[in-house]
Amino acid sequence: MSTTTREWHLAARPHGEPTPADFRLVETELADPADGQVLVRTTAMSVDPYMRGRMNAGRSYAAAWELGEPMQGGAVGEVLQSRSDRVPVGSRVLHGLGWREHAVVDASQVVVLPELEGIPLTYHLGVLGMPGLTAWAGLFRLAEFHEGDAVFVSGAAGAVGSLVGQFARLRGASAVVGSAGTPEKVRWLTEELGFTAAFDYHDGPVRTSLAAAAPDGIDVFFDNVGGEHLEAAIGALRLHGRAALCGAISGYNTTEAPPGPRNMMLVVGQQLSLRGFIVGSHTDLRPEFQEAVAGWLRSGELVARETVVEGLDHAVTAFLDMLRGANTGKMVVRVGG
Ligand code: NDP
Repeated sequence: MSTTTREWHLAARPHGEPTPADFRLVETELADPADGQVLVRTTAMSVDPYMRGRMNAGRSYAAAWELGEPMQGGAVGEVLQSRSDRVPVGSRVLHGLGWREHAVVDASQVVVLPELEGIPLTYHLGVLGMPGLTAWAGLFRLAEFHEGDAVFVSGAAGAVGSLVGQFARLRGASAVVGSAGTPEKVRWLTEELGFTAAFDYHDGPVRTSLAAAAPDGIDVFFDNVGGEHLEAAIGALRLHGRAALCGAISGYNTTEAPPGPRNMMLVVGQQLSLRGFIVGSHTDLRPEFQEAVAGWLRSGELVARETVVEGLDHAVTAFLDMLRGANTGKMVVRVGG
């Protein structure tokens, strides 16, 4: 086995949109695991919008990445060496030290993944992992979805959004409306995922497109985008409507604070609930979420699409492209065989 390995470091903190110059691919010595640790060969790693917040020095809900240090994120791989009884050599695992070919991880920070027939390992970075649980918690706990609700989800063709819409359909929504950034994504939502209606948010004011797609209004809004989408949804929510505020990606690369919704008085008049949340506070839902989703995957009722980029060298490109909308479903980077 090689005695060196490669990992991505944060080289600079961006102002506005990040560029490849903000990252550096570094070759380092491959360390041996200490007592209680394992050495994992990465097979795939995740790139996610929250990582944009980790590039900043300021407060985000996840800790800032350190300059000149390896970046972190979700990854799956195979255990090559183990100094823990709990995690045998050959185990397939999920852990939080992505962005590198090999990771030395405390065994306590590793989840040993079950061998599930027909379930690729990368699904633990998407549909069965953090994005899937985000969709589940936001829709069912925060927005208190129930059968018959009309649902609108922004960022609907992405990892989280595509699952929100499908979960709502599978649990008996009266309508599922989504917004996305290209005509191909819009077609995918209505033709393959069973959304009732979808629109490209570039085609005109979101308020107008949403009114055409959901003329009778909505009961639930799941927001991945913020800004204009949030204002439009507040305007469309019916009496006692509920919104789960999951993200606001339209503002992640802006240098000025994005404008807030100008129609907040409707929250009072319509007695709306707007609830922000972080998935890490809802891990108690993981067993019920994984059981339901594994069942829907087995029965073929749930579509779990991935956009796969090959090679650690292209991980930064994958991350930057994901922020610009190159992905449909979950963006993952395959690192090794
Ligand atoms: P996605 O797979 O949805 O990828 C990001 C997508 O954002 C892109 O594909 C792009 O799609 C869209 N996008 C980029 N810029 C804009 C813009 N200006 N306006 C509208 N859409 C834009 O990512 P995830 O599913 O992983 O994450 C979705 C959201 O959920 C993010 O806001 C993320 O921060 C949040 N999140 C929050 C969590 C929590 O605990 N609260 C946990 C996980 C995710 P398009 O082509 O449609 O523009």
